[in-house]
Amino acid sequence: MSRFASSFSPDYRTARTRFRKSAESLGCRHAGVEIGAEGPNGEALTIDFARFGPKDADQLLVVSCGTHGVEGFFGSAVELAMLEQRLPERRLPEGVALLFVHAVNPYGFSHIRRVNEDNIDLNRNFMLDGDAFEGADPGYTAFDSMLNPTSPPGGIDPFTLRAALNIARHGMPAMKNALVQGQYEYPKGLFYGGQGPSASQRILKSELPEWVGSAQRVVHLDLHTGMGKWETYVLAVSRSIDDPSTIWLKKHFGNDKVEALDPNGVLYEIRGVLGTWLQSLFGDISYHCMLAEFGTYNPLRMISALRAENRAAHWASPGDAQFSRAKQGLKEAFAPASASWRNHTVATALELVEQGLVALASAG
Ligand SMILES: [Zn+2]
Repeated sequence: MSRFASSFSPDYRTARTRFRKSAESLGCRHAGVEIGAEGPNGEALTIDFARFGPKDADQLLVVSCGTHGVEGFFGSAVELAMLEQRLPERRLPEGVALLFVHAVNPYGFSHIRRVNEDNIDLNRNFMLDGDAFEGADPGYTAFDSMLNPTSPPGGIDPFTLRAALNIARHGMPAMKNALVQGQYEYPKGLFYGGQGPSASQRILKSELPEWVGSAQRVVHLDLHTGMGKWETYVLAVSRSIDDPSTIWLKKHFGNDKVEALDPNGVLYEIRGVLGTWLQSLFGDISYHCMLAEFGTYNPLRMISALRAENRAAHWASPGDAQFSRAKQGLKEAFAPASASWRNHTVATALELVEQGLVALASAG
């Protein structure tokens, strides 16, 4: 019997209804902001905010999910486990408030895509002012036709074999870097960062300052899945290893768990990441953003699932069998149905939330 199986919702709409209902019953201030795109059944899509705890709190824990659409099945489950199971029976430490951001990319969540309504990978889209949305690694260009075929899925597809051969030739970190660091030249390709700020970015920029309020110190956990080993996690920061913020986070969340971006590690160097952008937006206060990444399947399976879904999204129709097969494959890759995985990862994420609250309540 899984304690947290019930925290997972079958679709975005159900997740959002539960989020709003539980925020309401806890007396949270909450609001949903439309992104201007529609769900699969024509429904409006929103990024939802809910804040729990004192209005004038100096310390704030932010938990966000669904930056990568489909990864929101997991992140939403963590938020719902907090809202439905934990918060009704607990108090926050003195002077600490909690802000939930539900579905940063509601289009991807509802349509079972990692990307948004413009095929944008949001975690490649948060460019700082003055940074150009252009360029692609030469390695990406070399892999483009293999990675982003311009035909519907089906027939004989030697992708896995070719990818395995390429990994053998170039080594995994090199290939991973070339593919996933972000590209701005192939609008239908994977890991596309867009040509300008996404709707989600614009909404966060206009809404977040109000929700953060007078907080002087923020710990932000942005929940992700799909990188790293099954049921394990890492906390990725976009600052250097010797930055005071990184040192502080390591003290509170574990030296071996907090990682600065490193091309040879589980994570890779990417452009336009949320953390750096938020830390710049809130440059006047201590803003510590971590990407909490929970592992599922091996990298080859992940990239195959991403490739198949992207191919189906651009070159097949929603009624096609290969379309729904690709969606199923993507959902399983980023939100495994395994009761053990669901139970274990949500429980772990809830511990991270507790660690965040304790860190914020501490003087140092
Ligand atoms: Zn992600």
